Amino acid sequence: MQTIKNYINGELIEPIGKTYIDNYNPSIGKVYSLIPDSDERDVELATQAALQAFPKWSITPKGERSAILLKIADLITKNLERLAVAESVDNGKPVSLAKLIDIPRAASNFHFYATGILHYAAESYAMEDTAINYTLRNPVGVAGCISPWNLPLYLFTWKIAPALASGNCVVAKPSEITPMTAYLLSELCIEAGLPKGVLNIVHGYGHKVGAAISAHPKIPLISFTGGTKTGAEIARVAAPMFKKLSLELGGKNPNIIFADCDYENMMKTTLHSSFSNQGQICLCGSRIFVEKSIYEKFKTDFVDRVNKMKVGNPADPDSRLGAVVSKPHMEKVLSYIELAKQEGGTILCGGNQVKVEGEFADGYYIAPTVIEGLTYNCRTNMEEIFGPVVTIMPFETEEEVMMYANSTQYGLASILWTENLTRAHRIANNLHTGIVWINCWLLRDLRTPFGGVKNSGVGREGGFEAFDFFTEPKNVCIKLK
Ligand code: NDP
Repeated sequence: MQTIKNYINGELIEPIGKTYIDNYNPSIGKVYSLIPDSDERDVELATQAALQAFPKWSITPKGERSAILLKIADLITKNLERLAVAESVDNGKPVSLAKLIDIPRAASNFHFYATGILHYAAESYAMEDTAINYTLRNPVGVAGCISPWNLPLYLFTWKIAPALASGNCVVAKPSEITPMTAYLLSELCIEAGLPKGVLNIVHGYGHKVGAAISAHPKIPLISFTGGTKTGAEIARVAAPMFKKLSLELGGKNPNIIFADCDYENMMKTTLHSSFSNQGQICLCGSRIFVEKSIYEKFKTDFVDRVNKMKVGNPADPDSRLGAVVSKPHMEKVLSYIELAKQEGGTILCGGNQVKVEGEFADGYYIAPTVIEGLTYNCRTNMEEIFGPVVTIMPFETEEEVMMYANSTQYGLASILWTENLTRAHRIANNLHTGIVWINCWLLRDLRTPFGGVKNSGVGREGGFEAFDFFTEPKNVCIKLK
C-alpha cells in the first residue's frame, strides 16, 4: 500500500506524529493508500521552510521563476496518463474526464501563470507637472492555499501557480479525501528543480492542518476553495489577524432555458452541466428552469437521455458517471433525494444508489437523478447538494424566472439558453452571480475574473486578479519640483 508523504523544504517526509489516515478508492469502497495525519507541528515546519525560501524566491527574476513553472507544466503533461488514472482512483471520476479536463487544466494553470507574470504590470498616475505616482506590486510572503476534493489537482494548481509565479512561497493543503495527485505533483516539483521550501504540501485533516494554516501568524494570506461553512470558519479565524482572504465557496446555480434556444446544443450541454464529475462541480447547473411552452418536451427528452447515461467503472470509457467521492458524501446526497420526496418532489429518473457488479460492488455510485414538482424555495432548491441531482421546473415569464434564479443565498454561476440577444444581455446583467454562461457551460478563458457573490465567496481568481491578490500594492509618489 502506498504511503503518501508531506513535501516540506524540498523533501518528502513523514508527518512528525507518524500517524496516518486511510485513503479510500471510492470506486471500490476500499482503502488503497495512507495519508499523513499531520498537525500544527508539520504546518510550523512547512511555514519555517517557506519563510527561509522567501527572500531569495521573491527576488528571483520573473523569467527564472517562469522557466521553472513551465517545466512543472511540461512534466504534468508528460505524466498525463499516470496523473489521470491517479485522480480517478482517488476521486471516483471517470478516467476519460480526468484526461480531458482535470490534468490538462492543471498543466494549463502552471503554463498560464508562468507566462502571465511576464506581462503583469502596475499602474502609474502622473499629476501633470507636480508629481508622478507608480505602484509597486510585491509578493506578500507565505501564502496558505487550501483546496477541495472535487477537482483535486485542477483547483490545487489554480492557487499554487499564481502564488509562486508572483514570488510568494506556499504552504498548501489538498483535501485529505483526495491527496494523491498533490503528492505526485510534489515529486514533479522536485524533478523540475523548484528550490526547496518554495512550495510545501502538508497533508491531513482540515480541522488540524487547514485550521493551523488559517491561524498561523506568519501566513498573511489565505486562498481557499471549499464549502461556505468552512469558508466562514476560516474568515472567523483569519479576519481578526487582518489576513488577505480569497474565498471560493459553494453554489446552487440556475440553468435557465428559453423556448427559442438552440435545442440540441442546449440538451447536450445541459447533460454535462448537470452531471459532469457526478454533479460535483461548484459550477454545475442544479436548478433547471424551462419555459413552459417546451417544458414537457424538455422533460421527456432530458429524462430519456439521462436514463441512457452509464454509471460504473471509472476506467471504462463508456461510463459517463463514476463514483461519488466518499461514503459520507454518498449518504448526504441520498439524504437530499429523500428530502426532495418529503418536500413533494417526484423522482423522474435515478433517485437511488447504483450497485455495480464485481469488484465495484462496494463503490459509491448514484444514478443521475432528475426531480420535478418542487417549489423554487424549498430546501432541495436552496441548499447545495453537490451530487448527480437536478431539479426541473417550468416558468412563464422572464420576471418569474429571474426571481427564482436569484432566490438562493448563493451567487456563483448561472447558465442561460436563448437566441434572443437583447434578452440575453438584459438577463446577464440582472443575474446575481459572478459568472454567466450564455449558450454554453464551463467555457473557460483563464484571463477572466472567476468567483462568486453572496455566500459563494469573496474575491476573484483568474487572470491578473490572482496576481493582484497574491501581491501587495505600494504606491510611490515622487514630487517633481
Ligand atoms: P470543505 O469546505 O469541506 O473542504 C475544503 C478544504 O478545506 C479541504 O482541504 C478541507 O480539509 C479544508 N478544511 C476543512 N475544515 C477546515 C478548517 N476548519 N480550516 C481550514 N481548512 C479546512 O469542502 P469540500 O472539500 O467538501 O468541497 C466541496 C465544496 O467546495 C462545495 O461546497 C463546492 O461548492 C465548493 N467548491 C467551490 C468552488 C468555487 O470555485 N467556488 C470550486 C469547487 C468546489 P478536509 O478535506 O480534511 O476536510
